[in-house]
Amino acid sequence: MAQRDPVAFLGEAYRQLVEGDLDWKLRVLQGPSTPRCVVDGREVIMLCSNNYLSLSNHPRVKEAAAKAVMTHGAGSGSVRPIAGNMDLHVELERRLASFKGAEASLVYQTGFAANAGLIPQLVDAGDLVVSDELNHGSIIDGVRLSKADRLVYRHCDGSDLADKLREAEDHAPAYRRILVITDGVFSMDGDIAPLDELSMSAAEHGAMVYVDDAHGEGVLGDGGRGIVSHFGLARDKVHVEMGTFSKAFGVVGGHVSGSRDLVDFALNRSRTWLLSGSHPPAVAAATIAAIDVLETEPQHVRNLWENTEYFRKEVGRLGFDTGKSQTPIIPIIIGESGDAKAFSGRLFEEGVFALPIVYPMVSRDSARIRTIMNAALTRDDLDEALSAIEKIGKELDLV
Ligand SMILES: *Cc1c(COP(=O)(O)O)cnc(C)c1O
Repeated sequence: MAQRDPVAFLGEAYRQLVEGDLDWKLRVLQGPSTPRCVVDGREVIMLCSNNYLSLSNHPRVKEAAAKAVMTHGAGSGSVRPIAGNMDLHVELERRLASFKGAEASLVYQTGFAANAGLIPQLVDAGDLVVSDELNHGSIIDGVRLSKADRLVYRHCDGSDLADKLREAEDHAPAYRRILVITDGVFSMDGDIAPLDELSMSAAEHGAMVYVDDAHGEGVLGDGGRGIVSHFGLARDKVHVEMGTFSKAFGVVGGHVSGSRDLVDFALNRSRTWLLSGSHPPAVAAATIAAIDVLETEPQHVRNLWENTEYFRKEVGRLGFDTGKSQTPIIPIIIGESGDAKAFSGRLFEEGVFALPIVYPMVSRDSARIRTIMNAALTRDDLDEALSAIEKIGKELDLV
């Protein structure tokens, strides 16, 4: 019998991606992630980083990371439950809980690890998850690891959620637990989940509420305290507040915050937490310093919002559609995938770095350039980016 190549599919699958123009073409950032940075040898204005407050470059954050390497070493040596639970990890959790106004916080290696590790412990066979149709991939994967039933409600639609919850009441046998789960800020449109309405519906049906505030922390609410603060919700209305340190905090890591019971449960049950090495000391120390900065230097969040309001208004004035954006994520909706890709390519040549988002990430007719504001961008940076956007928009006959 002829031997077949057991890994032929690798190359075949990749070639198909290339043919469909669906493969990732990685760009290289040569130096720090700053508003003016060097990408593939070209100086560009950065409009696609999640480093909202530029905390990755804040002197106090960098110094804390460097110092922790000298005092605690380059790595932690173990998982948290064995020998890798350092004083810096414990201090970070204490500081984060205090910042969020929560009873307790648990830090995971990443936000993805938090969702993948915790969701399947909260719900299992006999339970139900009700999820926004545009939730992040890490939520989708977390839900897939669970044997719970699933229902999907229309994007940010509180009355559709209420319908789905009512439907679920008729399920026999009755569901043991129900989990309502949503992104706080949606990364493709920059819109905000109506968490007040969602949590009210959930409460009527005795359901848990889990919000993934990856793009809201450091951005929304009092001093960047996130979406629960933004809506002024009582802490017991949102049972799991999950977030990341890889975006506005400028470092890396994930967390869940809520009750002491939640944290005790999560740390004893999440396999991603129990079986994966803890953060290097520099990560924990830098994140503590980022919290320090958020608590003592309110200007960063303020600058971020000033830039956001200015840029969104000016992009609109040029004749572009910014969709449902309510946050520093500002899509410039173009329409056709080909146009969005050409736009992004021309922007790069003109010294502006912003990525196109095309089908299947968004619908076929709403391809876009996704721009993300940053507190450290100056008015000159923004005006230069805006004139490139105007020039290319005219060139491509879009405005
Ligand atoms: C970025 C993101 C994550 C993943 O966070 P990491 O800490 O980078 O793994 C999870 N959920 C949402 C909504 C995100 O935007």
